[in-house]
Amino acid sequence: MLRNDQLDQWDRDTFFHPSTHLGQFARGEAPNRVIRTASGVFIEDRDGNRLLDAFAGLYCVNAGYGRQEIAEAIAEQARELAYYHAYVGHGTEASITLAKMILDRAPTGMSKVYFGLGGSDANETNVKLVWYYNNVLGRPEKKKIISRWRGYHGSGLITGSLTGLELFHKKFDLPVEQVIHTEAPYYFRREDPNQSEDQFVAHCVAELEALIAREGADTIAAFIGEPVLGTGGIVPPPEGYWAAIQDVLRKHDILLIADEVVTGFGRLGSMFGSDHYGLEPDLITIAKGLTSAYAPLSGSIVGDRMWKVLEQGTDENGPIGHGWTYSAHPIGAAAGIANLQLIDDLNLMSNAGEVGAYLNRSMAEALGDHPNVGDVRGEGMLCAVEFVKDRDSRTFFDAADKIGPSVAAKLLEQDKVIARAMPQGDILGFAPPFCLSRDEADTVVAATRRAVETVL
Ligand code: PLP
Repeated sequence: MLRNDQLDQWDRDTFFHPSTHLGQFARGEAPNRVIRTASGVFIEDRDGNRLLDAFAGLYCVNAGYGRQEIAEAIAEQARELAYYHAYVGHGTEASITLAKMILDRAPTGMSKVYFGLGGSDANETNVKLVWYYNNVLGRPEKKKIISRWRGYHGSGLITGSLTGLELFHKKFDLPVEQVIHTEAPYYFRREDPNQSEDQFVAHCVAELEALIAREGADTIAAFIGEPVLGTGGIVPPPEGYWAAIQDVLRKHDILLIADEVVTGFGRLGSMFGSDHYGLEPDLITIAKGLTSAYAPLSGSIVGDRMWKVLEQGTDENGPIGHGWTYSAHPIGAAAGIANLQLIDDLNLMSNAGEVGAYLNRSMAEALGDHPNVGDVRGEGMLCAVEFVKDRDSRTFFDAADKIGPSVAAKLLEQDKVIARAMPQGDILGFAPPFCLSRDEADTVVAATRRAVETVL
């Protein structure tokens, strides 16, 4: 094993970390953390610190750490057949089986699964499929994609553009021109404090209608949204939001892409967020929870009406010119099969629903009366605490106040609990593995209360 000082040196000198302040890190002004092992909801760093990971990595280790069943499936697949591609009709038993398992669990009306590696490339695929679809239908001008401010859909060129968070645009010349943004369904941050939830939904719908009228429905191909806004603040939609938005999309013949990278495979206590909120998407993006991050794998689930047009397109134009070397990688597929099986066998999805509801309730009880806590919200195994300068006057902190990062750092320092300071700066996010117990939820809540009291 490498000595710590050697590892630190190499880390600072050679490793380009994503989403990191590069200068501070290289100069040693920001900490590094090297993780060595993990089990259940706990990870352990190289110094032997055992940390309760209440964000499941990047809300992806849904089944929990150290699952031997998944590890064994990966090892067996690697020994048997580490790789073969999926081009021109090739496949493996693992990739075919997993496609079947996904469709068996998918909302009705879905037809096929295209496999990729991560959420970003799956959304990239989705945008290309939407464009292809409209070209086959002979309406090449219908190409723009509507996304919401605060949505997160990846950090590629088009997916970074779809992402509605400034941090991911800054200095990258994003968003690209085909992407347009509309209002986030973020009731807590509504401009008019006197607006009811119903009035706010009507306002979101009116904003969408106005955008469509401005741009022209014949230029707009699709709308993409996470059933629950994730990285943008963990914001469940207000009652009636999705039904009203879908009415508008249908009226203007605009496709719906449900980005279920976070919500797919049980995080809300339902198999998909689309089931949970009554979405009828044309495309569903899946990643993270598909393999619980034991191997990189993502997918685009394609709905019936798109599929028919894609088939027609290849009949007219020849094979579809879209593929990754690692599409449907058998090791990822083996991990996915074992993971979905485990989620069924251990009832992890219902645990996510039940313990998630308990976590949300307990967090609201423990923090709801704090003058700097403006909102405690969540759904299933997703929970967020939003801090405010003053609750009664709805005065918000600036991102520069770094309240979220300060509370997250204190939580880690005092009680060895990992939560995520969401990019907005004043929101602390929780998205534990589905196997979280009630006792562990109690630990997270008590530690959060202590950290909030220390910082604020
Ligand atoms: N979509 C959503 C909703 C996400 O939360 C993420 C990542 O957090 C992505 C897409 C991008 O996935 P990846 O980081 O695997 O590219």
